[in-house]
Amino acid sequence: MAALIETIPGLRDACDRARAAGGTVGLVPTMGFLHEGHRSLMRRARAENSFVVVTIFVNPLQFGPTEDLGRYPRDLDGDVAACEAEDVDVVFAPSVAEMYPRPSATTVRVAGLTDGLCGEHRPGHFDGVTTVVTKLFAIAGPCRAYFGRKDAQQVAVVARMAADLDLPIEVLACPLVRESDGLALSSRNAYLAPADRAAAPVLFHALRAASESVVAGERDADVLTARIRGVVAAEPRVELEYVEVRDAESIVPVVRVDGAVLIALAARVGGTRLIDNVGISVVGSTVTVDLGTLSAGAKPAPPAPPAS
Ligand code: AMP
Repeated sequence: MAALIETIPGLRDACDRARAAGGTVGLVPTMGFLHEGHRSLMRRARAENSFVVVTIFVNPLQFGPTEDLGRYPRDLDGDVAACEAEDVDVVFAPSVAEMYPRPSATTVRVAGLTDGLCGEHRPGHFDGVTTVVTKLFAIAGPCRAYFGRKDAQQVAVVARMAADLDLPIEVLACPLVRESDGLALSSRNAYLAPADRAAAPVLFHALRAASESVVAGERDADVLTARIRGVVAAEPRVELEYVEVRDAESIVPVVRVDGAVLIALAARVGGTRLIDNVGISVVGSTVTVDLGTLSAGAKPAPPAPPAS
């Protein structure tokens, strides 16, 4: 049975007791409306820790004034059921008043890694993320914290924050999970009208096409992003917001693929903003492509469109 905890002292006590009994705490921070991507993090946390906490909190600080805070999908009962099914020990679902009993005078800000990509297009977003994640880390105490590579810039930012501040937290990056047709799982996929849902996998097709170009020897970032723009342009329902090649750890822009990079993009599909990325590592002549995994039970994705 997963315990539902809604107070900060309640979660702090539960984690303290787990550690006092000799256990380790695995923390999975989420905004709820849980899907297979979240569940893959829970399973990893379950496999590696004696005590697993999933947090469900739609954090107002990380939404811009014109964003979807008010209509972000919520289903606490369904989320608790998903956590039960994954043998989670605690679901922490605080209210906004519990997390922010007064306006926060303190903001945790990571410089540099938050420049560009979603940092540029969602001003203040990462400050909201790092501030709430710091609070969750402070409440849970020493633990392993599991984040998905779906939000690759976010994982890099949180890992750097934990390292810079000597937080007693091990930040673990987990694979991006996709639907059978390649669409990255996201709570926001629930917003997609059927025609937009059918169009959205073009983002995966484009990233895969660029990855194939790298495997075939292409290293020029501009050529790779042009390849992605070309594939996405064939789908009029999808409008790219950005596509860039960046160093996977420092998030600085790169002009050539060398070492570990991300090709990251954001796009509008109907009114919905989606993000996706591929991790690529080039060491000497060895190229490793990480497009993530298909969700459990999913069939393989269809083949990439021909190169143009
Ligand atoms: P969210 O609820 O969207 O804030 O996501 C909570 C955590 O789940 C973050 O660490 C995300 O990166 C991770 N996550 C969301 N979608 C996926 C996915 N498709 N695959 C892997 N992890 C994911």
